[in-house]
Amino acid sequence: MKLQDKVAIVTGGNRGIGKGIARKLAENGAAVAIVGRSQEALDAVVTEFSEAGFIAKGYTADVSNPEDADAVAKQVVADLGSIDILVNNAGITKDNLVPRIKEDDWDLVLDINLKGAFNFTKAVYRPMAKKRYGKIINITSVVGLMGNPGQANYSASKAGMIGLTKSNAKEFSSRNINVNAVAPGWIATEMTGELTDEQKERFLSGTPLGRIGQTDDVANAVVFLASSDSDYITGQTLNVDGGLVM
Ligand code: NDP
Repeated sequence: MKLQDKVAIVTGGNRGIGKGIARKLAENGAAVAIVGRSQEALDAVVTEFSEAGFIAKGYTADVSNPEDADAVAKQVVADLGSIDILVNNAGITKDNLVPRIKEDDWDLVLDINLKGAFNFTKAVYRPMAKKRYGKIINITSVVGLMGNPGQANYSASKAGMIGLTKSNAKEFSSRNINVNAVAPGWIATEMTGELTDEQKERFLSGTPLGRIGQTDDVANAVVFLASSDSDYITGQTLNVDGGLVM
């Protein structure tokens, strides 16, 4: 049990990759605070995890709202005693070619993916700094490293998360808070269900391991970065992409 007695917040933990991450953290002993907008989805995952014997609580919040982030952090400390691990996983896509990206869709993607990660990082900083302990893991994407036509807003938000990771790693190191990013390639979830056959073909043809990733592939990397096994690693981006980017 690598994460015994640790408390982890996972944003966007009510489905997809976030749910897989929350489950793996819980399997390794962490109490998990799951954040999402859909109360129904949160209730379902908390029930499922509680029935499996894990400590899990759901928190309704929009990560793009700083007040929501502060309120969740305060409530998690009140409910579970501390915050040791933050996984900034919540994210959306609003794909289009640049001439067709509406201003609202640019703002929404940046607000949720990038500002959301900043909001939650800011909200957990004090409890982590006070404890002189923390692990922050930002779920970015390979498209933040290599770009992707039709995803200017999304890839800009994910590249921004890598800059945020590096700056925060330097700023928080004196408080023993490690900040790293995980960059998944194509992982089978609802989000990628929306990819066109052409996009899927392009991803797979460039993936040396020749398969789509599973949520557990990402979750295993997150557990490593959340545990003491990675104590001497900070400011890094770990690609979990079957070798797509190297
Ligand atoms: P899903 O669409 O399956 O899940 C997204 C999650 O984010 C949901 O739990 C959703 O909950 C939550 N969420 C979205 N907006 C908000 C918001 N404003 N506030 C709070 N929660 C929010 O996506 P995936 O599981 O596929 O992706 C998870 C992360 O991994 C994302 O950051 C994505 O960019 C990244 N990623 C995914 C890849 C893939 O191939 N699937 C590849 C690379 C990166 P709710 O709707 O209830 O709010």
